[in-house]
Order: sequence, then C-alpha cells, then structure tokens
Amino acid sequence: MGSKEQIVMLPMMAHGHLIPFLALARQIHQRTGFTITIASTPLNIKYLSSTLNSSDKPNIRLVDLPFCSADHGLPPGCENTENLPLDQIGKLFGASQSLKSPVHDLLSDMVAREGKPPLCVISDVFFGWAGGVAKSVGTVNLGFSTGGAYGTLAYVSVWLNLPHRQAGNSDEFHMPGFPDRCRLHISQLHPYLRNADGTDIWSRFFQTQISLSMQDSVGWLCNTVQEIESEAVEWLNNYIKLPVACIGPLLPPAVLNKDTGSSGLRISIQRNGKQPGISTETCLEWLQLQSPGSVLYISFGSQNSISPRQMMELATGLEDSARPFVWVIRPPVGFDRKAEFRPEWLPDGFEERMRRSKRGLLVRDWAPQLEILSHKSTGAFLSHCGWNSVMESLSQGVPIIGWPLAAEQAYNSKMLVEEMGVCVELTRGVESKIDAKEVKEVIEGVMDKSGRGGDMKKKAVKIGEQIRAAVREEGDQKGSSLKAIDDLEFVTVNRPNKNGAPQCDC
Ligand code: UDP
Repeated sequence: MGSKEQIVMLPMMAHGHLIPFLALARQIHQRTGFTITIASTPLNIKYLSSTLNSSDKPNIRLVDLPFCSADHGLPPGCENTENLPLDQIGKLFGASQSLKSPVHDLLSDMVAREGKPPLCVISDVFFGWAGGVAKSVGTVNLGFSTGGAYGTLAYVSVWLNLPHRQAGNSDEFHMPGFPDRCRLHISQLHPYLRNADGTDIWSRFFQTQISLSMQDSVGWLCNTVQEIESEAVEWLNNYIKLPVACIGPLLPPAVLNKDTGSSGLRISIQRNGKQPGISTETCLEWLQLQSPGSVLYISFGSQNSISPRQMMELATGLEDSARPFVWVIRPPVGFDRKAEFRPEWLPDGFEERMRRSKRGLLVRDWAPQLEILSHKSTGAFLSHCGWNSVMESLSQGVPIIGWPLAAEQAYNSKMLVEEMGVCVELTRGVESKIDAKEVKEVIEGVMDKSGRGGDMKKKAVKIGEQIRAAVREEGDQKGSSLKAIDDLEFVTVNRPNKNGAPQCDC
C-alpha cells in the first residue's frame, strides 16, 4: 500500500461527531500513512482547525464546503447543533443534504488532480447521500457511526420502524433487530421521537439518510470495541446487512495510558478546543485533596442541561449524600444556555457551603473531563450517557449513574445497565420528577465499595482493560481495533466497477 492514498471524511455538523471524526483521521493516518481530507462547512472547519496540532497539519487537510445557513431558514452563522433549539437542529440536519453537490465537486477535483479517486469516503451515517457521490467518482463509501453498536442499532431500528407506533396500548415494545429480551419503554424515546409518524421532518430525514447509508456503503465503522459489545456488533451486522468494523475507542493515547497527569494538563483542551470554566490545574489540585475513588463527577455532555426543579433536587441530594463531587453547571432548560449561572437555581448558600467545606466543586459550563475521569479520586460519573462520555468513563474503569436526555443516550444507558452491569439509571429526560432522597440513595449505592457498587466497579475495570487492549500493540500482538483500522486497505480491492456495488469483508 503506497503512502499516497487519500481518504475523504464527512462528519455531521455537531461537536459529538466532529471530535471522533478527527480522532479517527489521526488514527488512520498514524496506522496507514494515508492522507486524510476532512470536509465540512466553514465554521466547523474553523473549529477543527483550532484543535489541530503541528504534527497533524501535513497529514490532515481541512476543506471548506460552501454553506449558507440563511438559505435553509437558519440564523446567520448557524452551522453546528451547539446551542440550537430542537426545531433548528432538525432544520440543520435537513440542510446538511445541500452539501452533496459541493462534496461531488471536491471529489471530482481530487480525481482530476490525482488521476484517481480517493481510496474511500468515510461519511457520517446521517450523510447517506455520500455513498452515491462516492460511487459516481469511482470510489466506495464507509458509513461511520460515532456511537456504540447497541446504541447505533437501537437508533437505526427505532427510526426505520417507529415500533412504538405499532405497540397498541402497551408502553413497552420490541425493537426489530434485537432479541426479544431487549424491549424499549415509551419513556426511553425523546418526545419528538414519540410523536414521529413517518411524515415529520425528523422521520423523513433519518429514514432517508440511514437507508441510503445502509444501501450505498461497503461497510460501517463503529466507535466501539469488539470485545465489549460483541453481541450487539453481531445484531447490528445482521440488521444492516453490512460488515461492521469496531475501531474505537477514539481517545487520546495519554488517556488510554492513564498518563494524563504528566502530559501537559491540556488533553481535554486540545481535544475539544474549549476553555474549561476552571483551570485544569485547579481542578486537579482539588481532586488531589480527596481520597481514591470517592468523587462523583457530574456532567450532561457538551450541550445539555436539566430542568430547574431537577437541578434543585440534584443539589439537595448531593449535599445529603455527603460525597465529594465535581459538577459541571449550566443554566437549566428554559434559560439561555450562554447566560451567567444564577445562584437561585441552586439551594440557598449551596455553592458557598460546598466551597468552604471543599465538598463540592462547581464548574461553569465546561470541565476538563478527560483529566477528571482519569484521576484516581474519581469513583463514579453521573452522565447523560452520550457515547463519547461513556467510552471516556469506561476506558478509565469508572461506573456510571445514567441520566439520558436525548439522541441515543437512553439506549446507551439501557445497554450499560442490562448488558454490561456498570450503570444504574437515576432518571431520564428533563420532564421526570426526581427527589433528593432518590438522588442520595442512588449515589450512595453506586459509590459504596461493597455490594452493588463494588460489583459495578469490578465490571467497569474489566471493560476498561478490554478497551485499552483494543488499541495496544506489543510485538506482533495487535489489539482488535488496531487490526480493524489496518484492514481498512481492503477497500482498495473493492472499488466499484461497472458491474455493480462492491462489498468489503471487514
Ligand atoms: N466534554 C468536556 N467537558 C464538559 C462537557 C463535555 O470535555 O464539561 C466533552 C466530553 O469529554 C466528551 C464530549 O464533550 O468528549 C461530549 O460528548 P458526548 O458524546 O458524551 O455527548 P454530547 O455532547 O454529544 O451530547
């Protein structure tokens, strides 16, 4: 395989997708020497560019695709799901289909310049149109799901089948593609999905794009590890009728080597390009004061928050539990996400009491998550179960308290509870009623080093070892995810010919 091969990558315009795409680009380049072109809209490229380091620059090329948000009824400069209300996220997803023609031009220019098409296109599974574009210039498409295998299959199955619509009066229903024991409850569907009937903009977008990605790809890549989700990988493979290659975890090597302390304290900042609401040094100094495995880390991902009432109950339950915690706080749902955090959203004097007693650290908007999760004082993670957060937590052997809010998070939480046994779900959504007593009980159960908490911890540690082993290479022993990335070169022999679509054998 020559080192001149090129791959073009097309991520969905959301941070939870851009970050794993860039991490995958780095991994592929490092393993194969291929040059990677990541194409997206100008503001997303600007964001990605701010996270590139000097060693990336000759190998990862970033290309702007023309995009005018106003043409799609979106506010000016709106190119990413960050800070968008749900209806505008729907519009942005729909608008992503307008990238088809600029991507065709980009690929055609590459063919004209290089005399051959790129080795393959790796497109987000929500960019189903990319498969046809790849084929039209003589190459193949691999769909990339930034989620895990179980979460991806559940998301695909629910959107394609809307199974809750056929459940009659029952609140529980079967998901096609899963064994019957994996039934969903209606409360695990986000309200907009509960209301979807196949004619709304969400159903139309997901059904079209996911079907196209299944039809026009030679395989799908998943940000997971074969050994931790082997059954779900098989179910996904059978359902989409495509090979599935597990290439995760897409995490910085320092995190996987548990070496965050000595690597310049900037791993999270380099990965996400965001300044935390507290310096990494201050955060680590605070964690250093706590005993091993004693701290609960709480974060709802890059863009979510909970309701004002839930926030109050969570704070009260935390205070009653007397466990140390780091909590990433943002204005509750219904308030401007970028506004200053108001003390009235928490119990009277809460922040001051937590500061004085060194019991709790409140971090505004954004925390250095990777450094926190890999610190020895961190014992559990109260998470919305976004897949990046899940992989980050499990890679460090940290069990999870689930509070899924959107996207495929409820399916991830279900899998973590039922299949892996590393999670207790506290509640779901922003409309649920939780009380402080429940919060306290769940925290105490999970943080308890004996009983259920101890069992969850052991399982999380074992999964953490499997995750790290998947990207380890010792002598001629190569982890499963490294093997899967090295095998990407299979696509060259499967470029389409005039007789029809190719299939890969990953
Ligand atoms: N993140 C972070 N600090 C925060 C909140 C989030 O570094 O305060 C990072 C986190 O490490 C993860 C990503 O943002 O890599 C969130 O991705 P995830 O898939 O968990 O959730 P999403 O934001 O897509 O809902």
